[in-house]
Amino acid sequence: MRILDGKALSQQMKRKIAERVEAFQSEGKRRPGLAVVIVGDDPGSRSYVAGKAKDCAEVGFAGSTLSYPEDIAEQELLQEVEKLNADPEIDGILIQLPLPKHIDSDRILRAVSPEKDVDGFHPRNVAGLWLKEQCIVPCTPKGVIHILEDNGIEISGKRAVVVGRSNIVGLPVAKLLLDRNATVTIAHSRTPDLGAVTREADILVVAVGRPELVKGDMIKPGAIVIDVGVNRNPATGKLCGDVEFESAKEVAGAITPVPGGVGPLTRACLLENTLECYLRSL
Ligand code: NAP
Repeated sequence: MRILDGKALSQQMKRKIAERVEAFQSEGKRRPGLAVVIVGDDPGSRSYVAGKAKDCAEVGFAGSTLSYPEDIAEQELLQEVEKLNADPEIDGILIQLPLPKHIDSDRILRAVSPEKDVDGFHPRNVAGLWLKEQCIVPCTPKGVIHILEDNGIEISGKRAVVVGRSNIVGLPVAKLLLDRNATVTIAHSRTPDLGAVTREADILVVAVGRPELVKGDMIKPGAIVIDVGVNRNPATGKLCGDVEFESAKEVAGAITPVPGGVGPLTRACLLENTLECYLRSL
């Protein structure tokens, strides 16, 4: 059984990005710039944003965090996004979710210029993914594909099962696997006998947000298991995935740990997307 080490892979990706940034600078070009917008004081969101700022510093991007009070008016936030859209030094804009309840998140996400939408959430990028046109691919699904491809795991011709059908993870992962010629099944909360479906998978991607929902006996021997979930185990309080790691590792051929699997790849893909936007702006 192989542990698919997302942390090591993300470090390799960051090194490559840092080298390219250094090269741009030695050619006298500006640095890629990522702006992260955060509203309010949610400690979870703060820690994610701090992580993104650290990543930017590590690869030499100009990273800026724009913090706004919890009670900012939607109109004012829209104006701030417009300023970032117009700023030639900013290549990527990330709106840290969730936003406070009085703000329409969809409206804010759609206000981000599709050219700077490093999360790939803008309808134009979503359409681009489904129509196979130039687009920005959302970070977590992109990270899942990186883990598979960079570890030399063949996707074409495989039976893939994706558990979860959210717009930000399940659906785009399924589409990316389909584009790479896997035969894809999407399971969700109304799927009867989930284990019977997951046991068909050569590649099993789980993105549900339910601690350790998928147990070892729901996995085909030798399957590749990608656990996207990030949860707190209610019994231990520790971070855990949507897959019960201890039983799954006895059956799987390869598996991502939580933490240290998909999470670091998501962060590295945010940098990759920012670099992509920068290159298109040159
Ligand atoms: P979400 O929007 O809540 O979607 C969850 C999906 O799981 C839904 O499609 C839901 O089905 C399905 N589901 C829920 N309970 C189920 C069950 N018992 N059996 C089968 N399917 C079930 O969640 P998300 O945003 O996709 O995130 C999923 C997980 O990934 C969360 O733990 C989140 O924290 C994590 N995540 C991690 C990263 C990372 O970087 N590592 C990034 C993003 C998200 P219905 O559609 O039928 O309701």
